This record gives sequence, structure tokens and C-alpha cells, in this order.
Amino acid sequence: MRIPPQTWMTAPETRAVMDILNRDGDMARFVGGCVRSAVLDLPIADVDIATRYNPETVTKILEAEGIRVVPTGLEHGTVTAVVNHEHFEITTLRLDVETDGRRAVVAFTEDWREDAARRDFTMNAMFMRPDGSLDDPFGGHSDALAGKVRFVGDPVTRIREDVLRILRFFRFHAHYGRGAIDPAGLHACHETAPLIRELSGERIRVEFLKLLVAPSPLSVLEIMEKSGVLPVFLPGPYDFETLSRLIAFGSRTPDPVLRLAAFAPERADQAFRASERMRFSNAEAARFHTLSTTELAPLPEEAAARREIYRHGNALFEDLIRLQAARGVLDLRHAERLRTLSAHWPKPELPVRGADLVKMGLAAGPAVGEALRRLEAWWIAGDFAPDRETCLAETRRIIAEESK
Ligand code: ATP
Ligand code: MG
Repeated sequence: MRIPPQTWMTAPETRAVMDILNRDGDMARFVGGCVRSAVLDLPIADVDIATRYNPETVTKILEAEGIRVVPTGLEHGTVTAVVNHEHFEITTLRLDVETDGRRAVVAFTEDWREDAARRDFTMNAMFMRPDGSLDDPFGGHSDALAGKVRFVGDPVTRIREDVLRILRFFRFHAHYGRGAIDPAGLHACHETAPLIRELSGERIRVEFLKLLVAPSPLSVLEIMEKSGVLPVFLPGPYDFETLSRLIAFGSRTPDPVLRLAAFAPERADQAFRASERMRFSNAEAARFHTLSTTELAPLPEEAAARREIYRHGNALFEDLIRLQAARGVLDLRHAERLRTLSAHWPKPELPVRGADLVKMGLAAGPAVGEALRRLEAWWIAGDFAPDRETCLAETRRIIAEESK
């Protein structure tokens, strides 16, 4: 089996790395996502290379040819080669000698098949030589083309080695699956679902957000609910109808946090619990919280809409509009009007700053903040119309009043 050369394979940067590593024979091959994408003729995210050399040798050989090598994950046998700002992750063939469901003790090997056998799904366990010829020990090529996400080996055993594979199973099915989900894999996930509790929130979050950006994650989410996997890390109830409408509106790029806010718990306490389990970054958590708990509608007047834009910023306001429309709280015509309004009204800035107040003679400190807050409230009540001169006059009035 031979895959027609993809542009990323023949790029001079890729060639440089592969030519050097394969100077003395078949020592380095493409592996993982880039091979899967090449088989499916899809664009790739990054180029992963597997090699029979150990990391020290990889580093030595490449550096001798002037290629920069960064030790990015030596404990897993990974180094990253950098050529013209292109990155290549190069990982020494390895096998897991000891696993506990969360992390593995690994050993290097020179055997391609042993390395393929520790990978999760058949479509992720293919190697490709620089000429495009495939080494496909578990039938990943036909599975990829048929949209079958199948575990390498016995699904329950593979999940007990690394429980994250449950989430990866659903993630890959959401992106590459066609037709019914693999019954053996699904059954194994159902059996082992409670083990998800042992995973860190961070690892769950990364996999789950990747699942949520699939073109249509809805049917997979429903399967995850039915099989008891979803409730283990994300408490219900789930509003899949809202999610379905949100997806139907379409958007530039799928937004996993917005999608989550659409179907995950709406009330503040539940929203908080969900984000705790998921270990969101502070910014993600704040955005998720606002999206889950803010009710914009009804917004009869434009002035009210402008106040909300000022409060949330244009992007978040537009997301809120989308969400409210998906929930059926806003009708579509109204939502469209509000979106147009936001597109033509970038969030303004208060035309007066603390420094202006200090220049007027106010001592730097809490009084400045207090006066600014009063000015801001007045400016907002004036529908953001007062210009800098008018605002400065109002500021003088406020300061005079405060010092009475
Ligand atoms: P993408 O990066 O496009 O999401 P990918 O296939 O490159 O897809 P990664 O998570 O980057 O996915 O992993 C790279 C490869 O490493 C996978 O294709 C798979 O072979 C292997 N792999 C990653 N995580 C696991 C795991 N938990 N168990 C077994 N193999 C894994
Ligand atoms: Mg990858």
C-alpha cells in the first residue's frame, strides 16, 4: 500500500529531517495523526516521526547537520527538530512496560510492531515511509477509510492501561467515525466508565474540548450519555436540543466552550461544578460562567443592547446572542438585528482616565476610582454619547460635589 506524496511530505524541511535520519536505512517513519490524515487525504496538524534511534542519537545525528533539536519530552523519548520554524516531534519506538491507568513506565525498542501495538486505535497505529509506503500492522488503512475507530487489541485491557482512551475513543469517532460506533469499544467504555474519576481534570478537559470541536459531536455525546460515560465527569441534565440548534446556525470556527455552555448545566452552581471537573483556565471558566448564567433577552431597545456589549465585550455579547437564539429565548430576526448592531458598534472606552482626575487635583487613591465609577455610570446612562470634553466637565462637577 502506497499513499501519494502529500505536500508536507515533500516539503524541503521534512525531507531534510527524514533524509538525515534514514541515511543508514529504514530508521525513521511518519506515524500517528499525519499518516491517518494522509490516508484520508485531509490536512494535517503536525508531523510526528517515529524512529529506531534513541533520543541521544537522534539529537547527535541531526545537530551534526546543523539542525536544532530541543529535548521536549525526553522521559517519553521525544525530541523536537526545528527547521525553518517547522517543528517535527521525533519519538523513539517504545513500549509500555508498566501501566496504572494514568501513567506508564516506558522502555525503548527497535521493533516497529511493538511500538504500533502500544498505540490506541488501528487508524493511529500506521507507519509511513518517506516514499509513502505504509506499514499497517492492524488494518488501520481500511478502518480509516471505513470510518471505524477500533482499539488495537482488547478494548478493556487497553483502557485499563490508560483510562484516557475512553475519551479518545469518542473523540476520534466524533471526528473520523462513520456509521455505528464500534460495539466492542463502546461496551468496554461502558464497563470501565467509573475509572474516569481517576483522571486529572486537565487531561479530561483537553480530550473533551477536542471532541466538542468535531463538525457534529451531537450523536457521540448522546452515546456517551447513554453509556454512562458523560455523567462521570460532567453532571447532567444535558440540553442537546439547544446544542443542536447552535450547531445548525453555523459559525466561523466551532467553539468548544460555547458548545459546552449550550448543553451543559445552566444554573450558576452547576456551571461552577462543571468547570471544576474540567479544570478550565481562569479565562475559560469566567467565559463559561457568563455564557451559562447570563440572560440577555428581552432587549427591546438598542441602548440596552449597547450596555450589554459594554459589559461583556463584542465577542462575548455575540456568543450570548447566539446562545439565547439557540435556547429559543430570542427569535432569530431579533438575534440577527442585535448581531448587526454589535458588528457596527465596537465597545467604546470611557474617554477619561485616572490620570485626568489626578491632574485636576484629586489625590491618587480610592477617591479616583470612586469618581471614575460615578462618571462611568453617568456616561453609560447617557448611552455612551458624552464626548471627552463633556465627560471632563462632568468629572469636575463630581469632584466638586465630593469635596463638599
Ligand atoms: P491530532 O493531533 O490530530 O489530534 P493524533 O493522532 O496526532 O491526532 P495525538 O493525541 O497527538 O493524536 O497522539 C499522537 C499519536 O500517539 C496517536 O496517533 C496515537 O498513535 C498515539 N497516542 C496518543 N495518545 C495515546 C494514548 N492515550 N494511548 C495510546 N496511544 C496514544
Ligand atoms: Mg498529534
